[in-house]
Amino acid sequence: MLSDEQLARYARQILLPGFDIAGQERLLAASVLVVGLGGLGSPVALYLGGAGVGRLLLADDDRVELSNLQRQLAHTQAGLGTNKAASAAAAVAARNPDVAVEVIAERLSEPRLRELARGVDLVVDCTDNYPARHALNRACIAAGVPLVSAAAVRAEGQIAVFHPAAGGPCYRCLYPEAGAATALSCSESGVLGPVVGVLGSLQAMEALKLLAGYGEALVGGLLVLDLASLEVRRLSIAPRPGCPDCAACR
Ligand SMILES: [Zn+2]
Repeated sequence: MLSDEQLARYARQILLPGFDIAGQERLLAASVLVVGLGGLGSPVALYLGGAGVGRLLLADDDRVELSNLQRQLAHTQAGLGTNKAASAAAAVAARNPDVAVEVIAERLSEPRLRELARGVDLVVDCTDNYPARHALNRACIAAGVPLVSAAAVRAEGQIAVFHPAAGGPCYRCLYPEAGAATALSCSESGVLGPVVGVLGSLQAMEALKLLAGYGEALVGGLLVLDLASLEVRRLSIAPRPGCPDCAACR
């Protein structure tokens, strides 16, 4: 049962046909783990917090630096030098005290990731390297929860939803080489702020759709965007037979 304050706070989304009070109640009952509170994680945390996801676990062991503020909207000048998960948690709490926010300021080992994934409904991958993404992928498969993953560099980005338990592929079906060369990083290649903003916003949207049961989530799809030319492509990815990470759970 929603309070009057909740009905007012979430009025714009409750108004949506297909979302309604039932969708809001599902959000309020949901737990989400966001790994990485940088350029992607900032809009993810702010939008999921604003929308009233009941419990948000924010994980990052990094600190806010001056070069982050160009694009990492959850952090401010006053937060320089503080932990990114704590800084983002403060930004979420300032917007919506209705959300229980937990700060995980440690580097996550794989056993710890598995434990965290088992306790949530969905995981959002806002990390910036292959080993972390593969570890998150395995943890989500073990827990049977969807993984909303995105990456952005320069003016390009991509987003996919991995959910083998629902018949979709996993991250490793798309990137089979667990030990692949390190991904291009923003620190080496540069990135424009709105690029991570767009990709992080798309991640928040996919998460809200999956949690509230609204619309059609990007399970089995890969959206590739070039924001310099505004070219957008949607590709289909099939589960890879014999995938070492997800084949056993089919
Ligand atoms: Zn797979």
